[in-house]
Amino acid sequence: MGEQRILQKASLGELFAKLIAGGQRILAPVKSDDRVEFAAVKTPDQIAGDYIQTTTSAKTAVFPRYETMLRFRLKGKDVDVDELTPEAKPTVLFGVHPCDAASFATLKAVFTWDSADAYVEPKLEKTTIIGLSCTKGDAYCFCTSVGGGPGDTRGSDILLTPIDATKYLAEILTDKGRAIVAAAPQLFTPANGEAKEPVLAKIAPRFAADKLAQKLSALFGKTDVWLNQSLRCIGCGACAYACPTCTCFDIQDERQRYGGVRMRCWDACGFGMFTLHASGHNPRAKQSERWRQRIMHKFSYQPERLKVLGCVGCGRCSRACPTDMNLGEHMQSLAETTV
Ligand code: SF4
Ligand code: SF4
Repeated sequence: MGEQRILQKASLGELFAKLIAGGQRILAPVKSDDRVEFAAVKTPDQIAGDYIQTTTSAKTAVFPRYETMLRFRLKGKDVDVDELTPEAKPTVLFGVHPCDAASFATLKAVFTWDSADAYVEPKLEKTTIIGLSCTKGDAYCFCTSVGGGPGDTRGSDILLTPIDATKYLAEILTDKGRAIVAAAPQLFTPANGEAKEPVLAKIAPRFAADKLAQKLSALFGKTDVWLNQSLRCIGCGACAYACPTCTCFDIQDERQRYGGVRMRCWDACGFGMFTLHASGHNPRAKQSERWRQRIMHKFSYQPERLKVLGCVGCGRCSRACPTDMNLGEHMQSLAETTV
């Protein structure tokens, strides 16, 4: 718990104006048709009110779906190359739910573990997260099974909890959060012991990720378990594209006749070609092996190697899945499987 203040909802417009005047862009959940996605806003009235989750996650602010790395042009037998400098704009991510805020620890761990990723790390550095506690969830949410919760402060620089219709309890958690307060100190008035717990969503834990991690290596060889779990999976990759913690990407050249671009774009371990070798051999040839890899990577390999889970329990993969694979249910089933 950081220092606590009160921020009136009616003051948000003034706060946004100060932040924009200070050179920040503000990205927040915005409704567009039936979807809610993070997009640039100037005023709080542009922000979506009634939703459980954005369709894709806040990670797009630092790790977009595709990013152009260079442009090339063929000149006879030569190639002219323009390398593009990755752009990192000072950004305030507003209204990030605690699961998405926690996902930034995973992104940071993956993109800085050996050397800093030149595209993601500068954006992480320039991003400030103003989180928003969840007052409701749905059947797909399982944050409390993976060490999180509807009022979890991890990853947020400031966490706002709407304690009534007119005000937020603001927890100021980091130096970046304190810099936001310093931009408009008169808006953050002293708190008086207000509690956030009464308004938080109630999300019953389904399994304990830390205990399950120890069991997963014993489950690895149980082929029938993974086959049964993955029977419905068609390998479309929607789960990975919706996920705030998936970090796999591919680098591809898109060529027209005399030139083109080199891009990096999201990839998905559910795709049949994800591990296809040039020889034609595929070490994960079956969908059940690819499903197992997805689970093992998120819940076993990554926690062991980088000390962070690869899942924050946001439930997006399950909401997005065209065949109704439900990760919370699948993980609960694995936790109940005898080894
Ligand atoms: S979204 Fe569903 S069907 Fe598509 S790859 Fe993921 S689990 Fe499989
Ligand atoms: S695996 Fe599913 S529930 Fe876990 S963080 Fe990714 S989208 Fe959310």
